[in-house]
Amino acid sequence: MTLQQLKTYLSVPRRIAITTHQKPDGDAMGSSLGLAHYLQAKGHQITVIAPTDYPAFLKWLPGKQMVLIAPFQPEKAHRNFRNAEVIFCLDFNVLSRINEFGETVAAAKGFKVMIDHHTFPENFADISLWDEHASSTCELIYRLIAEEWNDKAALTQEIATCLYTGIMTDTGSFRFDNTNARVHRVIADLVDTGIEGHLIHNNIYDTYTEMRLRLWGYCLLNCLKVLPHKKTAYFVIQRKVTLDFMMESGDLEGIVNYGLSMKGVVFSAIILEDEGLVKFSFRSKGSFGVVDFAKNFQGGGHFHAAGGRSLLSLEEAEKQFLAVLAETEVG
Ligand code: 5GP
Ligand code: MN
Repeated sequence: MTLQQLKTYLSVPRRIAITTHQKPDGDAMGSSLGLAHYLQAKGHQITVIAPTDYPAFLKWLPGKQMVLIAPFQPEKAHRNFRNAEVIFCLDFNVLSRINEFGETVAAAKGFKVMIDHHTFPENFADISLWDEHASSTCELIYRLIAEEWNDKAALTQEIATCLYTGIMTDTGSFRFDNTNARVHRVIADLVDTGIEGHLIHNNIYDTYTEMRLRLWGYCLLNCLKVLPHKKTAYFVIQRKVTLDFMMESGDLEGIVNYGLSMKGVVFSAIILEDEGLVKFSFRSKGSFGVVDFAKNFQGGGHFHAAGGRSLLSLEEAEKQFLAVLAETEVG
């Protein structure tokens, strides 16, 4: 099936499930809800299935009532996947990123549409709109609606708000090297619907709780290690710390970039003790890429932003990180 044939298939109302990766970020929820609003306006029946809950700083996005947080209603989530005529998989490209729901999606009969910008896609979908050079999945949703389906007139303020959010968060507010003229043109079209970017920025970045800000302060002061000879900075964050500061989902989102704000540092990482596993976040700049590094930790992502995991203890995970780092030319 092609994207044009999909458009024709969607010319009558369908049951549609939209899903995204676990621990959804701005691009994951922005693309899911942006597409959900577009398809809902066309008369389809939509459920957005989040494999885990999503952070408070995204809960203001329009369309919350369409979201099913799968772990709260797992049977309903599995049923929705099984009954859907079309399943959109947004902002991920390996089914393990949706946890136990991956098997249900793999076995489901509906058409699977993967829209994504991460490297190394798995081949599970019937149709893909995949571009690892796209800034964000939200940019690809814009491309689908405005270019592939030639339906720019259907962009509402709700859709534009969602898509703006994901492009803004995945480009670090339009400053990472995935920001190009095309991104700004897409943003200009979204702003033309009448939305105000500064309000979206405010909703995402100026809504910290006091505890979140203090958690950042604590981590910057006590958990950050710097290895100048390796041009590397990394945080090791114990579970006790996140519990003491009553960390909520997404509270550490973005702190890893502080490592890169130091002169001479091109590689920054977080080694975070989570419930039953250790989670790694990697960021880099310049010619040093982190996606190969992440493969040592069952992970993946993009050239400059990747992640992974380990079942070792925090201490052992740090040793593993340092061992891989010792073998890696950072520069
Ligand atoms: P973050 O550090 O923000 O959790 O993730 C950075 C990037 O790497 C994101 O694009 C995310 O999708 C990807 N990523 C994070 N963790 C994993 C993982 O465990 N596996 C894979 N394949 N990608 C990951
Ligand atoms: Mn993304």
